[in-house]
Amino acid sequence: MRKILFLLILMLFQNVFALDELKDVGIAKYAVLEVIQDNTPLREKADENAKRVTHLFKGSVLFADKENKNYFRVELKNNKYFWVNKKYVEVQAIIPEKRIDNVQKISFKEEKNKYKINIDTDFKSTYIIKEGNNNLDFTLYDNYFDPVSTKVIKQNDKFELPQMFTNDLNLKYTNNKPLFGYDVESYDKGYILTVKKSPKINYNKPLKNIKVTLDAGHGGDEKGACAFGLEEKTINLQIVKKLRKEFKKQGAKVYLTRKKDKKTDLYERISFAKEKDSDILLSIHQNSLPNPKYVDKKHGVGTYYYHPQAYPLAQKIQENLLEATKFKDDKVNYASFAITRATLPVSVLIECGYIIKQDEAEKISDKKFQKIIAKAITKGCAQYLKERF
Ligand SMILES: [Zn+2]
Repeated sequence: MRKILFLLILMLFQNVFALDELKDVGIAKYAVLEVIQDNTPLREKADENAKRVTHLFKGSVLFADKENKNYFRVELKNNKYFWVNKKYVEVQAIIPEKRIDNVQKISFKEEKNKYKINIDTDFKSTYIIKEGNNNLDFTLYDNYFDPVSTKVIKQNDKFELPQMFTNDLNLKYTNNKPLFGYDVESYDKGYILTVKKSPKINYNKPLKNIKVTLDAGHGGDEKGACAFGLEEKTINLQIVKKLRKEFKKQGAKVYLTRKKDKKTDLYERISFAKEKDSDILLSIHQNSLPNPKYVDKKHGVGTYYYHPQAYPLAQKIQENLLEATKFKDDKVNYASFAITRATLPVSVLIECGYIIKQDEAEKISDKKFQKIIAKAITKGCAQYLKERF
C-alpha cells in the first residue's frame, strides 16, 4: 500500500506517469487522459510519422493502458489500440475500469446542401471516420447506443443506425453519388457530423455557383522555397490571382485565404474555407528538394491529396497541368499536409513546378505561363465535377 501511495504522490507532484508500476501492484488498469489541444492526432504506432487514425478535440477523453517513451497506448475496444503523444494530453486519474456512457440523443437535420447530425453525449470519447466512395462510417467509441433509450430525432434515410444495443455507436451514411466533403465539430453537448450533399452540376457550365477557396501557400516571413532571386510565396499569390479570374469566368464563387503578402496560419486557412461554405480548396505551391542536387531527376508538376474523396480531383488537375505545361510528371501523391487532411471542403495541394530548377523557375514566374497554369487547373476542376457528379 505504501508503494502505491508513493507512486500516486510521485505522479501528482512530478507529473510522472507510472501506470505500468501501478498495474504491477494490481490496482490500476487505465489512465484517464484529457486532450489539451485541438487537432491532436491519434496514430497507428508510437511514432510521429505513423499514420493518423483520427484527430481529437481539446477536452476529449482517452483511456491509456500502456506507455512507450513519449506515447500513451489508447484502447478503443478489445485489441484495438492506437497511440497519442504525451505532449497533447494530461493524466486526470488512474482507474480500474473504463468509463462508458450512453449516447443520449441523435438529431438529424437536412439543409439545402448538407446533412447535419447532432450526437449528444456529455462524455467526449474518440470517434473514427472511415471513408468509402459513396459512403461514410462514423464510429464513436466508449458510448453505448440503445435503440430504446437513445432519443433519435427525424432520422434521415441516407443514414443507418444499429438495430440493437451496441457498445459503440456506429452511424453509416450511404448515397448513390460520391462524397463531396464531410466534417466533425465538437460542441457543448457532443459532436456534430456534417455530410455535404453532392453538387447539382450544370453540364454546360460545371463550375457555375461552385464555391472555391484558393490558397496561396506561405506568406509574410514564411517565404517558402527560394531560388534564382524568386520567392515561392510571391509566385503562389500571382498564380492564385490568375486562378481567381479563370474560376470567376466560369461562374464559380471564389475566396482567397490571403490577398496580400501576409503570414497566415495553416488551420486558419482551412477554417476560412469552411466559413465560406466552400466546395473545393486548392492550395498553390512551388516545389523544391531538401537536397537540390537531385533536381535533374526529380522535378515537374505534382498534385497532392490525403482523403480518397480528393483523389479524383487531384487526378484531373494533374492530367490537365501535364498537358498544358509539358512539365515532367511528378505524379499524383498521397501526402499528409494540414491542407490535404481537411475533409471539408474537398482539398488538394498543387506544386506547379520546381523553383530550384532553372527552366521551370523561369516558366512558373512568367505571367503568360501562369495564365496557362491557371487555365489548366480550372479545366481540371470542371472535368472533375462533370465526370463525377
Ligand atoms: Zn510551398
